Order: sequence, then C-alpha cells, then structure tokens
Amino acid sequence: RTLRNCRFSSISPSPICRLINTLVLGEHDGGFVKPSTLSAVTAASSISKDNSISILLGGSGSALEKAVSHAASFHPLISQVLVADSDILMHPLAETWADLVHLLQQKSGYSYIISASSSFGKNILPRSAAILDVSPITDIIQISEPHLFVRPIYAGNALCTVRYTGTDPCMMTIRSTSFPIPSIQADSNHDAAPISQVDLSIFNKEKSMKSRWLKLTSQETDRPELGNARVVVTGGRALKSADNFKLLEKLAEKLGAAVGATRAAVDAGFVPNDLQVGQTGKIVAPELYMAFGVSGAIQHLAGMRDSKVIVAVNKDPDAPIFQVADYGLVADLFEVIPELLEKIPQK
Ligand code: FAD
Repeated sequence: RTLRNCRFSSISPSPICRLINTLVLGEHDGGFVKPSTLSAVTAASSISKDNSISILLGGSGSALEKAVSHAASFHPLISQVLVADSDILMHPLAETWADLVHLLQQKSGYSYIISASSSFGKNILPRSAAILDVSPITDIIQISEPHLFVRPIYAGNALCTVRYTGTDPCMMTIRSTSFPIPSIQADSNHDAAPISQVDLSIFNKEKSMKSRWLKLTSQETDRPELGNARVVVTGGRALKSADNFKLLEKLAEKLGAAVGATRAAVDAGFVPNDLQVGQTGKIVAPELYMAFGVSGAIQHLAGMRDSKVIVAVNKDPDAPIFQVADYGLVADLFEVIPELLEKIPQK
C-alpha cells in the first residue's frame, strides 16, 4: 500500500495508520474452515482497516484442498491463504505447528499472530510465543485499539484492560463468541484471495518430537457442535444418572440444540467431559441457553453468562442461576422436561 491510503492526524504530521499484517492460525474440519477461525478473522479485521490478513491452513489431502478454497472465497477480509501441505501437519501437535509459525514469522515479520481460544490455539500459540520470545495475551473479548485489549479474569467476574507494549508480533487468542462471523451477502461477488504454498523445504520434519499423535476419539452425533450451537440445553447433577440425561438429549433433538453439562454432572460420569460448560470446560454464547438442575456456580457461569437468552429450571428459588436467568422456573425438572417434550413440535 502507498502512503496515499494512510490517514494523517490533525496535530501530528506523522501517519497514524501503520501498515500491518496479521497471520491467523486456521483450523479446518471436513473441508471447511472452522467457525472459530472465521471469528479470529473478524477479530483481525477489527484491529485496523489497513490490515493485510493471511490465514494459515495445514495438513494434506482433499480435506485441506477444500478448506483452502473455502478460506479463499470466504470473505474479502482475507488477503491471502497460506497452505502448509504436509502429512506431519495433519494433527495439531504443538511442537510442529510452533516451528511452522516461527518459520513464517522469520519470513514475513507479522505484526499480529491470532488464533481462536480453542484447544488448537491454546496448545500452539503459547509455545510459538515462547519461541518468538513475546508474551501472548489470551482470551481477548474486545479489541479497543490496535494494542489495547479487554479480557476476562477471575472466571469472568472482572474484565481486565491490557495494553501490549512488547515487540512484534503481538500474539493473542480470542474468544470466538465475542467476534461474530461476518455475514456475507449471497450476491456478494468478491475476488477469491490468492493462495500461496508455504515452502517447507527448510522445515525440520525429522526433528525428534516430545509428543506424538495417537488417535482421535470423538462422539458421533448429528447434533450441532457445543461451541457454535444456536441453542444449548444443559443438565446438572440433579439429572442423577446417564439414563436421565437421555431426556435432555431428546429435548435437544427437538430443538436442534447441543447438549451441555456442568462439571458435577461430568464428574459423576453422566456424560463425557467434552460436554462440560464453564471455566474449565467450553465457553458458549448461544441465542438460547436452557439450564436444568444447574445451581449456577461462578465456574459454570464463566462459560455461559454471555448467552443471549438464559432459561433456568431449578427446584430452589434461591439458586444463583436465577440471578443471570432471563426466564426462571422454580420447578422439578423431571416434570418440566417431559411436558416440554410433549408440547414442543419436532424441529
Ligand atoms: P449442584 O451445585 O449440586 O446443583 C444442583 C442444582 O440442581 C441445585 O441448585 C438444586 O437446587 C437443583 N435441583 C436438584 N434437584 C432438582 C430437580 N429435580 N429439579 C430441578 N432442580 C433440581 N463447574 C462447571 O459447571 N463448569 C466448570 O467448568 C467448572 N470448573 C470448575 C473449576 C474449578 C477450579 C472449581 C473449583 C470448580 C469448577 N466447577 C465447574 C464446579 C462448580 O463449582 C460447581 O460445583 C458445579 O458447577 C455444580 O454443578 P451443578 O450445578 O450440576 O450441581
């Protein structure tokens, strides 16, 4: 870009626009860029209008190819798609990915390196930051100025404003629930972003690794992913058993919702721990969050308090969940859920 595109401050002759370039660490699944990565692109675009955003996708095979074309055509915000095509990048091992980020930083000198606050980002970004000798800022929910960020602390009970005063790159993870994915008009007709292959010839593929990929175990389900679902139906310890959780699953099916759980329900073995919502689980912000038999401990609220509409059903009128609920029902969930199942039509 030329200086002509820069805005000038009225009190200072120096340009206030700094030409910046950002690398977004991309995740993809089934040939599509994950929504959390697209939120990271939204966050990158809010740093400055003069931001050249590159999205990095790694792996190999047809899934990578499809994801690359998805990213390239996704939005005019993306200036470039970088493709690191290698079998050793198929799985998100922090050692390999951090070396790749280091390589790209040496080559392109990014001003910002951003990832979503997902397991992928939380695994890779701190290690990359250590290699690059910068201090990462995690869980950002707002970008107030190019180097001024807001992030929750004390399980979301306070917000902390942080100014980054280090050297480039400024590395950060963002909460995807705070950066909605831009909607694209069906008739929008923008050019696809250019695609560049990353030269991996000097990448040390033989380096001995401290960790290795064994296998992926995941729940086969037709329900939406908990982190991105528009409706979440959560159960607490009060459900009493894995069998009773099936009641919630039926309700979720009717509503096209994802199922969530409190840590107490997970610890009791009612559901697997990837359904846990909260400080040590997933952070969600759906349009509708329904909590059944959930007390509303601060660690649970930390994961769902940004939901648009919160509905709580609890036998105890003094349960803390009612303090954040938009609609509260003091009732027995074993009476309410069957009634809802009867009255709500199949979606
Ligand atoms: P309880 O606190 O036992 O509440 C059960 C509720 O169900 C009660 O309010 C009761 O009135 C109601 N109830 C009982 N029977 C019925 C009925 N038949 N119908 C309707 N209501 C009924 N928790 C999380 O959820 N997520 C986290 O990520 C998380 N991280 C944590 C991290 C740390 C470091 C610590 C210390 C704790 C963490 N916890 C987390 C645990 C948290 O403190 C609570 O213990 C937990 O959330 C309680 O789960 P619960 O609401 O299911 O159970």
